[in-house]
Amino acid sequence: MKQVKAYGATSATSLIQPMTIERRDPRADDVVIAIDYCGVCHSDIHTVRSEWGPASYPCVPGHEIVGRVTQVGKKVKKFKIGDFAGVGCFVDSCGKCKSCKANEEQFCEVKTVFTYNSQELDGKTPTFGGYATSITTKEKYVLKIKKGLPLDRVAPLLCAGITTYSPLRRYGVKKGQRVGVVGLGGLGHMAVKLAKAMGAEVTVFSTSLDKEKDAKKLGAKNFVYSKKPENFAAWTKKLDLMINTVSVDHDLAPFLACLKIDATLVLVGAPPTPNQVSAFALIGGRKKLTGSLIGGIKETQEMLDFCARKKVFSDIELISASQINEAYERTIKGQVKYRFVVDAKTI
Ligand code: NAP
Ligand code: ZN
Ligand code: ZN
Repeated sequence: MKQVKAYGATSATSLIQPMTIERRDPRADDVVIAIDYCGVCHSDIHTVRSEWGPASYPCVPGHEIVGRVTQVGKKVKKFKIGDFAGVGCFVDSCGKCKSCKANEEQFCEVKTVFTYNSQELDGKTPTFGGYATSITTKEKYVLKIKKGLPLDRVAPLLCAGITTYSPLRRYGVKKGQRVGVVGLGGLGHMAVKLAKAMGAEVTVFSTSLDKEKDAKKLGAKNFVYSKKPENFAAWTKKLDLMINTVSVDHDLAPFLACLKIDATLVLVGAPPTPNQVSAFALIGGRKKLTGSLIGGIKETQEMLDFCARKKVFSDIELISASQINEAYERTIKGQVKYRFVVDAKTI
């Protein structure tokens, strides 16, 4: 066991504060990663504050991790010391079930071991996330990061990137299609960049009027201020796909109305309380309402390679660990531009 410096919470109401956690001795198939950067996802806030149900404490969040490999177990093949590496939202799964075999480990039928607030496959050892100076984890669940990329801007791809890439690919976004993105935060700004990189015409629906200029800079063609109902009229039955990233419950009807017949609204935002949806919003136009959870390791690697090729990285505000609490408050207010990333040197 190794003692590692970290930042985490001791209860649902405590601040994120310095603490020490234990990382295991590397097993034959483990790599040890010295963390350089870790993104701040809204899921960190939902989890650490027990908004999705009671969390286990101490809780060290962080699942947008990038760093350098400092040690490799003797069976490790994918990595050598000095390689850049990434860890996303999960660190293990059974490896044998239908979902694991289909490279969708996030839906493992036995157990997906999430990067934090989870237990290892033994059912008891707690997992701790990336607000820490290092992580020891199975190489199979670690992503390769190409040399020469802006590592701090790559970190958010490990969750915000894959969570938006996966449904854009699944629903076959291609050149000329019209994609709507609801909510311009961490996930939303990646959805804009990725949909644009896939050739789509992007429309942002935002509750923040002051984000219009940014939305266009990020690659959106159109901006709809969603607090004014009359602004939706021009978008009736216009969109091929919508990705909804909003972190609080809201009425889905105005967004469903923007979909073409048979088109799909994908929920990736995970509000702790239910959204409203009227049957009428779906039946008139055979609209589809679905959800999506991050993506498997194979698809995450594909996304990282796509982003490296297309030079798609997150727009970030780099913060020190002592600023995490302040960053949470700004994220909740929708004031993040567009992802906070913790510099692990400051932990
Ligand atoms: P974020 O950076 O806080 O972005 C959420 C955006 O939602 C805000 O920027 C804001 O955009 C909009 N919003 C916030 N409060 C609102 C309100 N009261 N009414 C309407 N819109 C509001 O969060 P994130 O990190 O992108 O995460 C978004 C959600 O996705 C969270 O619930 C998170 O847990 C979830 N998530 C899901 C997955 C998955 O696999 N499905 C993965 C990661 C995260 P505007 O200012 O533009 O309105
Ligand atoms: Zn996340
Ligand atoms: Zn499995």
